[in-house]
Amino acid sequence: MLFKKTVMKNCDPVIKKFTTFDNTAVDHGITTRFTSEGTPFNLGFNTCDPSEVIQHNRTVLYGKLLRGPERFIWANQKHTSRVFVVDISHGGAGAFSCSNAIPEVDALVTACPNLYLCILTADCLPVLLYDPACRVVAAVHAGRRGLAGGIIENTVSVMGNHFGSRPDTILAGIGPGIDKCCYRVDEETGRSFLSQTGVLPADGISGEVHLDLKATCRRLIMEEGIPADRIETMPECTACNNSVFFSYRGDDSKTGRFATYIALV
Ligand SMILES: [Zn+2]
Repeated sequence: MLFKKTVMKNCDPVIKKFTTFDNTAVDHGITTRFTSEGTPFNLGFNTCDPSEVIQHNRTVLYGKLLRGPERFIWANQKHTSRVFVVDISHGGAGAFSCSNAIPEVDALVTACPNLYLCILTADCLPVLLYDPACRVVAAVHAGRRGLAGGIIENTVSVMGNHFGSRPDTILAGIGPGIDKCCYRVDEETGRSFLSQTGVLPADGISGEVHLDLKATCRRLIMEEGIPADRIETMPECTACNNSVFFSYRGDDSKTGRFATYIALV
């Protein structure tokens, strides 16, 4: 009975925003761990909650944004560097089930208005890109493997190749993710990431290393030609702030996912 009460409870999600997209023609946001009433607001299937809870929370999110589920597109994220261009024909993909989400991609791009591109994270970085000149948006799931594999470069390339976006007009937001303070990896993982992203010190590393995903992501975005003053990084570390955001490491892997979304309006 307690479970049913939780599922059916009306709730008001708490949503955070980047200031970089203020007064632009996009709707965007980052959901948080709890609603304003303190109810957990997990949006990720195959996590710590049953599908019914996720479907309920997704319905609440769609209602909050005053859009039907056919306006939302979710991916089956796999830590790849694959990018997928979506249009209205993909509307509703993954809205209530993983089974019809866009398969095995980690970035979504569109030039269609009123299509909400959604990314789920709990320590990996959610990244939003918006080109106001060509009217194109992207939502990117950028964790250690995605960043090392080129997900940022690939997304900016797709925006350029498909829609003519020039990097110097793109605005970027890097959302909450695990910070250097809490992201310790073993020597081999650290060496691999640092060499793939071009910052392995000349004398190498020895022992465990703390990775700085946000700084790396910001640098990779700048290397694509997006100006520094058009990139905003949210300061919160998800592991240090796991009362606000879900955190895979901060919660010993048994946790939910929060969503980051963007749509042209
Ligand atoms: Zn931390």
